[in-house]
Amino acid sequence: MSKGVGFATTVLNNNKSTREWIQNRIKPEEIEKYLDNGQDFIDEPAIEQALAANRGCDARRVRDILAKSLAIETLTPDETACLIHVTDPELLAEMRQTASAVKTKVYDNRFVTFAPLYLGNLCVNNCAYCGFRSSNHAETRRILSQEEVRREAEVLAGQIGHKRLIVVYGEHPKSGVEYMAETLRTIYDVKVKTRCGWGQIHRCNINGAPLQVDEYRIVKEAGLGTYQVFQETYHKGTYARLHPSNTIKGDYRWRLYCMHRAMEAGIDDVGIGPLVGLYDWKFEVMAILHHAIDLEKKFGIGPHTISFPRLEPAHNTPFLNDLPYRVSDEDFKRLVTVIRLAVPYTGMILTARETAEMRREVLPLGCTQFDASSRIGIGGYDDRPDDRQQDDRQQFILGDTRSLDEVIRELAEAGYITSFCTAGYRCGRTGDKIMCLLRSGKEGQFCKLNAVLTFREWLDDFATPETLAAGEKVIAKEIEEVRRRQPGVFESFMSYYEKTRAGERDLYF
Ligand code: SAM
Ligand code: SF4
Repeated sequence: MSKGVGFATTVLNNNKSTREWIQNRIKPEEIEKYLDNGQDFIDEPAIEQALAANRGCDARRVRDILAKSLAIETLTPDETACLIHVTDPELLAEMRQTASAVKTKVYDNRFVTFAPLYLGNLCVNNCAYCGFRSSNHAETRRILSQEEVRREAEVLAGQIGHKRLIVVYGEHPKSGVEYMAETLRTIYDVKVKTRCGWGQIHRCNINGAPLQVDEYRIVKEAGLGTYQVFQETYHKGTYARLHPSNTIKGDYRWRLYCMHRAMEAGIDDVGIGPLVGLYDWKFEVMAILHHAIDLEKKFGIGPHTISFPRLEPAHNTPFLNDLPYRVSDEDFKRLVTVIRLAVPYTGMILTARETAEMRREVLPLGCTQFDASSRIGIGGYDDRPDDRQQDDRQQFILGDTRSLDEVIRELAEAGYITSFCTAGYRCGRTGDKIMCLLRSGKEGQFCKLNAVLTFREWLDDFATPETLAAGEKVIAKEIEEVRRRQPGVFESFMSYYEKTRAGERDLYF
């Protein structure tokens, strides 16, 4: 099925070394070994059949399935299909409450925050929906030098206060694996003085093109957190229409098995998702479940995170004007709820593609991570920080451009704590170890302590007076809970807390 790839006839790909690079990207043997009897794990007739067979389940069956989610067990395709079809308002409300309860059981009242960092918009692919596609000549192209990467990281760590990034790359020889590894090292090297201590990025996740097994080892060695790749659409006919077959991305299975390769290379934390709106959302939700199940089956662990980016307008991208599968706000909420229930242990990322209003409604349905203060124009944090939209050099238009301070304040006023914790990864609590801890609720014990310590750091270093006031109330309540629920560690926790107040940084359990 996989083949050598030709080259797109656009100016971006029009030189010999780029063409050669493109032709050598796909290694068929790194796909075929994961197939079952020559078949991949997306069995479209089986998905359609499960969807058709599970329409109109009665309330009792729905409630039995909800009880299984609440026991933090992955649902079967039939169970998931049953939930997908629920439209009765009362049952839907029960599903939303259960989704929220599942999230609280696994992740308590915490949200983790991160920022996207786009390092370049050179891309050899030609995805119909993307502002970076090679045929989009209205896009100003550039790739950041290491010095520019450093400056972006300095703003993120020293002025906004982020500790966790998703670093984003187009697919191009100039942003290949050596560039990726070097940029991670540059980012981790940044250390900036702040109001009361210092700021650093402790976890770099990557959203990049599928890599070869040996290449994953290189980014892991450079300190990668999670490797994230979205399949965009799991529906093969739609995939083929949107990703020209003479591009690397045109190979569906190279992308479908990229997380298998990452796991083979020892990367435990992988992030998956569809680009919502390219095809029927019900099919995509079923397909994500099959993706999670195949990873669980072959490697013993499912995805660390699932994302569900919804299509947004992009500069000079007419494809986006007329989308037959555009997902309404109501259906988007159903999609998020069902994913939470179907894969109860996974982290779920809600990005600033959504508006502030939507994020208010959707975060409590089981999401665990959000971004804020996001700039997705290349170089946008350092050179145009006040431009919240930077159309000519960004991939799509953002829905929520509020600052991190504003979002944290709003969440704190509603009783949520924003965690900047990155300790799990650095203590080896990744992959199956973290999954075990999450399923049993034990990870929460570390997370609560680390959430308070890192939130304290951020409040002291970056918060406005209004946000500080809202945050203090949350912290007081959390400390009281630690005292009550974890008396054995309370004393050492408070000692770390006092040291943090005094300006020490990066203390964690
Ligand atoms: N180039 C790499 C790739 O395609 O895998 C990684 C980065 S790409 C810049 C990140 C993701 O942005 C894509 O995987 C796609 O899901 C999403 N994206 C592309 N165009 C979009 C649009 N118009 N609206 C929302 N998300 C979009
Ligand atoms: Fe390139 Fe990724 Fe955009 Fe496709 S989605 S054009 S691969 S940057």
